[in-house]
Amino acid sequence: MNRWWNNMSRGFLLVLSGPSGAGKGTVCDALLKKNKGVVSSVSATTRKKRPGEVDGENYFFVSEEKFQEMIDNGEMLEYAHVHENMYGTPKKFAMDKVEEGEIVILEIDVQGALQIKKVYSDAIFIFLLPPNMDELKKRIVGRATETEHSIEIRYKNAFRELDFVEEYDYFVVNDTVEQAVKDVESIIEAEKHRVKRFKYIKEKVIGE
Ligand code: ADP
Ligand code: 5GP
Repeated sequence: MNRWWNNMSRGFLLVLSGPSGAGKGTVCDALLKKNKGVVSSVSATTRKKRPGEVDGENYFFVSEEKFQEMIDNGEMLEYAHVHENMYGTPKKFAMDKVEEGEIVILEIDVQGALQIKKVYSDAIFIFLLPPNMDELKKRIVGRATETEHSIEIRYKNAFRELDFVEEYDYFVVNDTVEQAVKDVESIIEAEKHRVKRFKYIKEKVIGE
């Protein structure tokens, strides 16, 4: 099978959005552990580090000045103001990996996803949903990383974010992590079989 995937001319961006607490991080971690050839982009943010988060792993935690400098230098693929902080995707890592044939997951909000959609027609867009809003609230509260103010903002913003689901190619419901990961894997598998992602299909079969 490898000779085929080695001939995928480029990889692609996989944009994963969904309300805070839907389980993007959890599903993404499980997916990355199981799948070679899938990597995650690390965003830059001006938000404060949560206990347990590691700079360069969860995010690049930067000052507002540094974030602005990255924008001014054209280093961001997309960026947005989300839940009172700035978040953005560093361009170089993601695009280098795509060129190397990797699938690059961008765990970003709906505003960032719309920016990517305008510029990268090859990207795929998945919206991760909680089974219902009560469960979403439970997950945000249960994660125990947020102040009461921050929980309220995230929960309120969730309703607005859901308005954008129709902009996406696929939705996945995160009821159990196991099933959600399987669903995302199925989508990746289907996307890998798109004719447009391959060069010289006929030549490959006839052995030229
Ligand atoms: P997001 O990255 O979308 O903000 P997280 O991955 O941080 O969400 O998940 C929010 C909380 O919900 C975490 O405490 C996580 O352990 C929990 N969680 C994620 N997926 C599930 C699930 N399928 N069932 C129950 N709890 C979940
Ligand atoms: P959190 O503060 O909970 O880690 O993330 C808050 C929100 O910011 C989530 O909806 C997440 O998807 C979004 N986000 C994280 N990184 C980026 C990014 O690089 N760009 C954009 N546009 N949104 C991001």
